Amino acid sequence: MGTARPPTDVATCAICGKPAVRGVVVDARRGVDAFPFCSFRCQTIDLGNWLGEEYRIAADEVAPPPAGRDDDD
Ligand SMILES: [Zn+2]
Repeated sequence: MGTARPPTDVATCAICGKPAVRGVVVDARRGVDAFPFCSFRCQTIDLGNWLGEEYRIAADEVAPPPAGRDDDD
């Protein structure tokens, strides 16, 4: 004992390489951290990365729906 913060609570951001610390509030509005990313910006980038991948794969397997329709009303 004596270590207030275990090393498992520190990670390297996979996006920018900056240190990410669990428990550090980087978004005051949400009141949560973005661990294991250093910030929500990087978390969003990572999310967009694999979402974009999914989109690319899906678009490759199935034909996109015809554009121009608007059934919102
Ligand atoms: Zn980062």
